[in-house]
Amino acid sequence: MQFTELGLSAELLRAIGEQGYTTPTPVQQQAIPHILAGRDLEALAQTGTGKTAAFVLPLLQRLSQAPSGQTSSPLQKLTHTAPRVLVLVPTRELAAQVLASVRTYGAHTGLRALAVFGGVGINPQIQSLRRGIDILVATPGRLLDHLGQRTVDLSKVQTLVLDEADRMFDMGFIRDIRRIIEKLPKVRQNLMFSATFAAEVRELAHAVLQNPALVEVARRNAPAELVTHTVIKVDKEQKRDVLLHLFAAHGWHQVLVFCRTKHGADALTRKLEQSGVRSAALHGNKSQNARTRALADFKAGKLAALVATDIAARGLDIDSLPRVVNFELPNVPEDYVHRIGRTGRAGASGEALSLVSSDERIQLRDIERLLKREIESSILPGFEPQHTHAVPRPSAGRPPAHKPAPARNRSSSGRPGAPRPARAGGGAAKPASHHSGQRHR
Ligand code: AMP
Repeated sequence: MQFTELGLSAELLRAIGEQGYTTPTPVQQQAIPHILAGRDLEALAQTGTGKTAAFVLPLLQRLSQAPSGQTSSPLQKLTHTAPRVLVLVPTRELAAQVLASVRTYGAHTGLRALAVFGGVGINPQIQSLRRGIDILVATPGRLLDHLGQRTVDLSKVQTLVLDEADRMFDMGFIRDIRRIIEKLPKVRQNLMFSATFAAEVRELAHAVLQNPALVEVARRNAPAELVTHTVIKVDKEQKRDVLLHLFAAHGWHQVLVFCRTKHGADALTRKLEQSGVRSAALHGNKSQNARTRALADFKAGKLAALVATDIAARGLDIDSLPRVVNFELPNVPEDYVHRIGRTGRAGASGEALSLVSSDERIQLRDIERLLKREIESSILPGFEPQHTHAVPRPSAGRPPAHKPAPARNRSSSGRPGAPRPARAGGGAAKPASHHSGQRHR
């Protein structure tokens, strides 16, 4: 299917063409006709599926087709400043990204959009709201601030979008969302996007959506399909050196590196910077400006590494990221899937490389259970782990898949000139059928 078959206007097709897109993604193919028809929608689609354009494009179209929706008299025209589309999102980053999409796809429509979120001054937002907008993208907390100060009027909202609804639950926004919904006109279109259909998401869907069309798309970044997973077994104290070594040896750029804690992310960023790897940390303690700048620099290729915590990185829209490194494994196996969802996008292949120390073997086992496969593991010559990695394997009867290689003396000459992780346990120790034989490059 082509975009031209979806009934979108020439202005939108032009903007889509400027982005180089020709084929709508599955969620776009399925959702756009329903949204254009004015229906409510419940969509199971995670970041990376093209879900943002799936709601932004048809909503832009509906707004441009009814530009005079609220301006039936000249007097009303003068006061026509209130948003007609409200998009609620869980994080500032997502708000900025959705706004960027609205501006990109709406470049030739003349529609006005604004994002309001916390962590930045409220006054510029108030000025922009006064000037008038068509589409408002907001995080719940800051929108409630505006409602409290009466600096936003939601009485003209025709369409409500709840984006990443499951995350809004995770982050405790449900009460805020309900309070916001109370301020909206009762008759309106409702669209809900969520990566999961957890019970509470269903409950909200039930309360908010009227006879919704259902759209469910497979994960774009299904872990087993597009992404090569690799584990390098290493002692905890050696992780930084291994990471530096990999950057130097492979000339890596644009690597998203995950740490478990903000403190750990800061410490690693400092170490990378000291060693000449241009890096920035992305986590919740950074100011909004610092986060925006870090992300922009990373996207522009000015940084070799963006060191992030799980919360900060969720929902980041970074195109065709070749590599994600788990400096530490997440405690929750689902977070591994979210992390690697940053790579292997839009059909491009990607690599998820995890540095795993012996104290993380339980997390690794849980991740493998979730993925329903074992992850190929390697040992980097010169960085052989001294601590045992004996992992309780999920299935009995198999030989241990990742025996630690015999420890060698570490010496500068032992460092590989053309580094390549050695296969763990030696070829004979494990049946060839267990692993695909892929190596990380
Ligand atoms: P999203 O799921 O909205 O976060 O989008 C993921 C990425 O896919 C974004 O970087 C979009 O720019 C990109 N994208 C959206 N629609 C298409 C399309 N039809 N073809 C190719 N890339 C797309």
